[in-house]
Amino acid sequence: PAQNKHDIAAIAKLFDMRADFVHAHPYGSGHINDTYCAYYDQAGQRIRYIHQRLSTEAFKKPIELMENVQRVTEHALNELLKSGDKEARRRTLTCIPSVEGTPHAIDADGNCWRTYPFIERARTYDTIESEAQAMEAARAFGEFQKLTATLPGKPLHETIPGFHNTKQRFQHLEDAIAADTHGRAAEVQKEIEWFMARKDEASIVVDLLESGELPLRVTHNDTKLNNVMLDDVTGEGVCVIDLDTTMPGSAIYDFGDMVRTATSPVAEDEEDTSKITMRMFMFEALVKGYLSSAKEFLTDKEVSLLAFSGKLLTMECGSRFLTDYLKGDVYFKVHKDRHNLIRTRSQMALAESIEAQMSEMEALVAKYR
Ligand code: ATP
Ligand code: MG
Ligand code: MG
Repeated sequence: PAQNKHDIAAIAKLFDMRADFVHAHPYGSGHINDTYCAYYDQAGQRIRYIHQRLSTEAFKKPIELMENVQRVTEHALNELLKSGDKEARRRTLTCIPSVEGTPHAIDADGNCWRTYPFIERARTYDTIESEAQAMEAARAFGEFQKLTATLPGKPLHETIPGFHNTKQRFQHLEDAIAADTHGRAAEVQKEIEWFMARKDEASIVVDLLESGELPLRVTHNDTKLNNVMLDDVTGEGVCVIDLDTTMPGSAIYDFGDMVRTATSPVAEDEEDTSKITMRMFMFEALVKGYLSSAKEFLTDKEVSLLAFSGKLLTMECGSRFLTDYLKGDVYFKVHKDRHNLIRTRSQMALAESIEAQMSEMEALVAKYR
């Protein structure tokens, strides 16, 4: 087993655990934070907790981030308890407070930590194995949006400003083309033209949010399958995790990113674009799952954009890869030559596959509406 990079016994002392620390080990396959599973003894019983060190590279304002997480999880738990759900404590993350009563704790080295009860008898999957999993994940994300739709008080902190501002993302692409700091623009003229031909579409959702025709909601913003715990026995989507990017946004973004990440049969950096296709049966599973929990609160306008959302988020992601390629690979880690260009082309291929199937996708949304 991997060694602990941090002294977790010391971290345990920073939180109001009301149990005795036994041991801990690194856990899970997350790429952003350092996650540990820790065993505690509570009156003779072994119980597990998750301790996580927040990535300071990824999150510049960890305390604001944890304020968001605390508000969202506390509200979700209240709503679940109110509805009489017997499994309420498994259906949402909850923050164990620090000894100072805050949802985070700062260690001797200045690292920011948080602690969650371990969600037992459920696990995450790094790749989607079936339509049933896609459906359950989509249902769980819809459930999360439903629970947070009633969050009272001021809006959440925008922890990553402009995260899904597709209009701004396209502007950044145009800036990178104009600057052409690495002399790569000439080689990617075809790709540049592809994105510029879709510039108007990129601003649709941003404009509708601005005009108030689409509501601003609490959104998750990282709606991958491995951010949902599925029950070990029933396969049911139990709990949405990884709330680091939860902030104000459009429901369209969360659904669109599910379409982008769940409907293609190959990895995001597949070089053989002939293998990349939007699989309709996976889209159907997502629509079915998502609408089963979300249709009661979604507006007609939101529902009308669900099919388009997959294309939008795929274009957005592709434009970010191309921008990074032009800037000399400064944001996304690259593992081979032209990696960001390969990723750009794979997103373009997926977006084209969605374009080609748009009317069938619209029909499916109408079927489950
Ligand atoms: P990503 O690369 O998706 O951004 P991350 O570094 O932000 O990941 P998380 O997704 O929060 O990390 O957690 C990593 C893994 O730890 C999860 O995929 C899940 O398997 C496990 N995990 C996290 N929280 C819990 C919990 N409360 N109970 C059980 N397992 C958990
Ligand atoms: Mg995660
Ligand atoms: Mg994460």
